[in-house]
Amino acid sequence: MFMSNNPKITRVTGPLVEADGMSGVKMHEVVYVGAERLIGEVIKLMGDKASIQVYEETSGLMPGARVEPSGKPLMVELGPGLLSSIYDGIQRPLDLISSIEGDFISAGISVNALDRKKKWRFNPVLKEGDELTAGGIIGTVQESKTIEHKILAPPTISGKVKTILEGDFTVDETVCILEDKTELTLMHEWPVKTPRPVKSKYDPSEPMMTGQRVIDGFFPIAKGGTATIPGPFGAGKTVTQHQLAKWSDADVIVYVGCGERGNEMAQVLLEFPELEDPKHGQPLMQRTILIANTSNMPVAAREASVYTGVTIAEYYRDQGYNTALMADSTSRWAEALREISSRLEEMPGEEGYPAYLGSRLAQFYERSGKVKALAGVEGSTTIIGAVSPPGGDFSEPVTQNTLRIARVFWALDARLADRRHFPAIDWLKSYSLYKGSLDSWFNENVGEDYSLQARQAQGILQRENELMEIVQLVGADALPPSDRLLMETARMIREDFLQQNSFHEVDTYCSLEKLYWMMKIILEFDRQAMLALEEGARIEDVTSNPLAGEIAKMKYVVEEDFKPVREKLYSKIQECFK
Ligand code: ADP
Ligand code: MG
Repeated sequence: MFMSNNPKITRVTGPLVEADGMSGVKMHEVVYVGAERLIGEVIKLMGDKASIQVYEETSGLMPGARVEPSGKPLMVELGPGLLSSIYDGIQRPLDLISSIEGDFISAGISVNALDRKKKWRFNPVLKEGDELTAGGIIGTVQESKTIEHKILAPPTISGKVKTILEGDFTVDETVCILEDKTELTLMHEWPVKTPRPVKSKYDPSEPMMTGQRVIDGFFPIAKGGTATIPGPFGAGKTVTQHQLAKWSDADVIVYVGCGERGNEMAQVLLEFPELEDPKHGQPLMQRTILIANTSNMPVAAREASVYTGVTIAEYYRDQGYNTALMADSTSRWAEALREISSRLEEMPGEEGYPAYLGSRLAQFYERSGKVKALAGVEGSTTIIGAVSPPGGDFSEPVTQNTLRIARVFWALDARLADRRHFPAIDWLKSYSLYKGSLDSWFNENVGEDYSLQARQAQGILQRENELMEIVQLVGADALPPSDRLLMETARMIREDFLQQNSFHEVDTYCSLEKLYWMMKIILEFDRQAMLALEEGARIEDVTSNPLAGEIAKMKYVVEEDFKPVREKLYSKIQECFK
């Protein structure tokens, strides 16, 4: 872009650079800073002065160095080849292992996000003379064994097809020409901070199954929904996010490692290619895209990483897929916002965070949803954000603002983690606002009393909590037999049902069918025990029944063997107190 006013750096403070001679530049425009052409974004404009957040290490930058506008906002490349990629916050392909060792991508280097050499087999679905609607499907490419990539027109382009080709193409070769001479390729670009347009959004009505009993059983999330998982250090945020990335039944997973330790990302990277997707038996990496902006990488790029991730998730949603984005941790992103805001000398809000913290978080979570895409297909984007409140104090601003937005709250509790109760999701504090609208799905698709059972089990745990006070004062022996039975059933629900070991090869994943029967068996044991008490059985005999031991082992029974095991166990329970 021609600029007569010769933009130059006037000041460098950490990730923030001030420049003058910037008239004509737009808010949110990408600029190249200094001789190394570091990538930055204009985040404040006053006259011809601009503040620029730089997505790369700024340590070598000096006042006087030049700034070059790009004329464009921050964009991502969308097309075949995204799946199984690993990118940094601004979508540069990353060799993660070497970046953890401190070997960053050379500063300012511009590498393409999508491979320009690889050829993809393009099968058109339109023919000459067809009318292409904005964002419509022009053809398909088999991107991985499980994902057929729908090649979409950019959401802003429509027209009559003049020529459309078939065959092997790279992402930037023209495959379709419209009457008005617009040329379309297998890829297009989209600005990360602009939500991709859709025809309409619906209320989410189907669960995203996660294979985690406490989630699917008690606090389910909908496909297209939002959830937050706050918790202190070591409570299990990352393990839970990894479990969702591995086992949830979304078609495409975007995992954003934002400001957390690099070795956690490396773990994903090493583990996922080995693991198989339970739905297709294919390596999990084939449905996954990783965005890594770990703690040793530049802070400003944390914000970019979150937007880059959600834009990619929306793009697969627009092809008709159920996509899910995990961000670990949104607190690190908020801290980056705070740092930049303070360098901009903005008026600080609560705990130094900028006043717009809440609206930024809201705008991000609002990009979730179940939609009818421009192409006419239905898809969804589910967003799950970890929050790392300092000291595990949920009253801090990031947790509080997120709780106002996210519709599922998985509250991690340090005391549970200390007691090795994992997942350490607090069953009393957590909630899912989707529960009401998902109940009918579960009841129709798994078992007619699915939601009733869950309510009963949660009721028992609440009652246990009330009784705990008495027990602490006078001991469990002082309770009437019915309450002692309740305490025992609550223990079973906690230990035999809710506790689930992510690192156990069988227990790491639990189907809805298995979950439902585990719950039913525990509740049936409770019912039969109650009947026995009513008929005069002694509480000591009831609670020491050997079947309790078999119930505790249900979780380790592999899915294929579970049906005969549970049938036998269920009928034994009918007899065990007789
Ligand atoms: P955070 O991200 O909240 O700091 P992590 O997810 O790294 O915490 O979890 C810390 C540790 O807790 C893990 O290394 C693991 O030992 C244990 N842990 C957490 N969740 C589970 C789980 N579901 N099953 C078994 N262990 C778990
Ligand atoms: Mg973590």
